[in-house]
Amino acid sequence: MSQKRDFYDILGVSKNANESEIKSAYRKLALKYHPDKNPDDAAAEEKFKEAAEAYEVLSNAEKRAQYDRFGHDGLKGGFGGGMNMDDIFSQFGDIFGSAFGGSFGGSRSGKRVVKGSNLRVKMKLSLEEIANGVKKKIKVNKLVQADGVTFKSCSTCKGSGRITQMTQTFLGAMQTQSACHVCQGAGQMIDTKPSDTDQYGLRKQEEIIEIEIPAGVEDGMQLSVHGKGNAGPFNGVNGDLIVVIEEAEHPELKRENEHIHYEAVVSIGDAVLGTSIEIPTIGGKAKIKIEPGTQSGKVLRLRGKGLPNIQGFGTGDQFVHIHVWIPSKLSKEEKDWFEKHKDNPNFLPKENEKESGFFKRMRDYFS
Ligand SMILES: [Zn+2]
Repeated sequence: MSQKRDFYDILGVSKNANESEIKSAYRKLALKYHPDKNPDDAAAEEKFKEAAEAYEVLSNAEKRAQYDRFGHDGLKGGFGGGMNMDDIFSQFGDIFGSAFGGSFGGSRSGKRVVKGSNLRVKMKLSLEEIANGVKKKIKVNKLVQADGVTFKSCSTCKGSGRITQMTQTFLGAMQTQSACHVCQGAGQMIDTKPSDTDQYGLRKQEEIIEIEIPAGVEDGMQLSVHGKGNAGPFNGVNGDLIVVIEEAEHPELKRENEHIHYEAVVSIGDAVLGTSIEIPTIGGKAKIKIEPGTQSGKVLRLRGKGLPNIQGFGTGDQFVHIHVWIPSKLSKEEKDWFEKHKDNPNFLPKENEKESGFFKRMRDYFS
């Protein structure tokens, strides 16, 4: 899986290719490597599948953004996946027009296996769960085929799954075969079915599914669990279960990709004299030292206290932004104390130290 080729390379398009460039690149490859043109050529079939998968992702704005950001892993999230031939042929309808798609799809295996629809579920995760990865059991209400459903040959297509017609395609007029619209190409129709099922003999049923979420996922990411969606009509294959990740807001920590930010406020006395404070991290509380003379705005970096990168490229850091609390309510006595000391040279900002302090902060932040 890790040796997968880049989708843009597969289609031979640039990273910023537009929709129609991607479509036309895929069309060329699909025609070149189509199994009908390359019978018993495993290498061609591999290329055909590869191109279909690349097109599937790059033609979908959401998936493409996901891929651009996280690469192959972003799409799979550790789950099995990939497309089978039925997925690919059903994709053809969108790009070549349904007539042509049917011709291609139908001519290979005759009848089609109908794929069930995908189920989408949202899953809310805490930062802690995201940091460590988590196994979750979820209850879904999905379509399954009921017991007692029997099938007979489709009367419209006589069981072939295909209907022949003359059509104009981009290659000129040709006799094409399209998938039968009644049975969706399956060649079958329902003979008998229990009365509480839908037109395909399917019925909703609760199922508990265990899902393993890899560490480092992000809000909005979609993980696809192959074959855990709704059952396909006519003894077809199941659709997929799409898990949409939602990140629960942490009361104190803010996430930025794999880094964590925390705003710490210290008293003026602690900033002047130095102290140690307890701060929250994803793994629990941590003690950090505030040096004497710490300026407001200083950023401390705790290495490795962030989130793991989803592709396994190390772990982020936690940044602690120090703010010095300036008192606004003072007693007469305290005010007098400040009056007395405010022009003391030690209390005045020093241009040179201000400069070096600032650059030091930036260095700390970016090192
Ligand atoms: Zn039919």
